Amino acid sequence: MSSYAWIERSLATIHKANWYRQVQPIAGRTGPEVNLQGTPVLNFASNDYLGLAGDERLIEAAVAATRDYGTGSTGSRLLSGHRPLHRDLEIAIARLKQTEDAIVFSSGYLANLGTISALVGPRDGIFADAYNHASLRQGSRLSGAMVQEYPHGDMAALRQQLQQQRSQVRRALIVTDGVFSMDGDLCPLPQLLDLAQEYNCMLLVDDAHGTGVLGRRGAGTVEHFHCGDRPLIQMGTLSKALGSLGGYVAGSASVIDYLRNRAPTWIYTTGLSPADAAAAKAAIAIVEAEPQRRQQLWTHQTYLKQKLSTILKQKSQLIPSSSPILCIQLADAAQAVRLGATLRESGLFLSAVRPPTVPTSRLRITLMATHQRDHLDRLCESLASLAL
Ligand SMILES: *Cc1c(COP(=O)(O)O)cnc(C)c1O
Repeated sequence: MSSYAWIERSLATIHKANWYRQVQPIAGRTGPEVNLQGTPVLNFASNDYLGLAGDERLIEAAVAATRDYGTGSTGSRLLSGHRPLHRDLEIAIARLKQTEDAIVFSSGYLANLGTISALVGPRDGIFADAYNHASLRQGSRLSGAMVQEYPHGDMAALRQQLQQQRSQVRRALIVTDGVFSMDGDLCPLPQLLDLAQEYNCMLLVDDAHGTGVLGRRGAGTVEHFHCGDRPLIQMGTLSKALGSLGGYVAGSASVIDYLRNRAPTWIYTTGLSPADAAAAKAAIAIVEAEPQRRQQLWTHQTYLKQKLSTILKQKSQLIPSSSPILCIQLADAAQAVRLGATLRESGLFLSAVRPPTVPTSRLRITLMATHQRDHLDRLCESLASLAL
């Protein structure tokens, strides 16, 4: 018996549970309409909320930076991988977020791993929302801190945990998504900040889906809740509304300075490519200069939410959302796979999200500012014909 035979058995189990996943090749430039395996489809599966990943200005910025600096940054930021472009981007992020400083990582995932494990260790405690993103969970585990999950959004439960456990650990960190990526609802930020203050905890908010989308200036969840003057640490990604690749942390000058010295996923990895950094910087300028994109996105969100509530047999099937992420609850993974395929055949690309990513299967619709009203109507027609 080969020592690798278990892999075949494990794959068979994954297939049997309807959990098997594979990549789906998209040809050509991304946008509200894409070519999926040779078929044109309406795209309701991307995180490109403002439609910037295919924007000429980002492309031009990436091409120009590649010509100026080359394709790779050639080393870690502290050795040979730092360019003026990286610092310009960090300053632009700090300005958008209205924080003292910011630091750019090679991905949001790496930002979470490095930040959490730099902030807390084995003598410390993490209090985490049960629906947190995988990168927050992995980061929490990696830190070696005691991890206590509280039920999703349940502030009474969190308070009770803090009452019982805060004194047993040295430092404490509350960790939450700002916008929950697989549900679309928001964290109760003001209450979290109050609890953090009352129990002497740090608070890390993952704003991957809020940046560029929420708040008057598009600064994200913290701006949405008018909490910019309270002490907290924000992280986010350059790869969703900002249409590029990379992650960031924004906060006080001392937090950022500390991360530059203590976050292993920043110190020991190659700096962001010049093209990605330049594209993200161009995107931030557009977020600041074109609020109409955000307005269009929210107009779409209101319209689709209203229409979905008339299509679905039970209103409870639509998971409560305050973001451009709208999810329809399904019975099981088999139904998710089946509906995903049926919708594909009618020219609609949306994600069928299944365990282990989420506890229950769902169809996940993400909106873009660059969708047309007609795109939303076509989505609703197809969903209506499924008799959900
Ligand atoms: C996408 C995402 C990340 C990871 O960001 P990447 O830049 O894609 O690595 C982290 N947190 C949340 C909530 C996300 O949705």
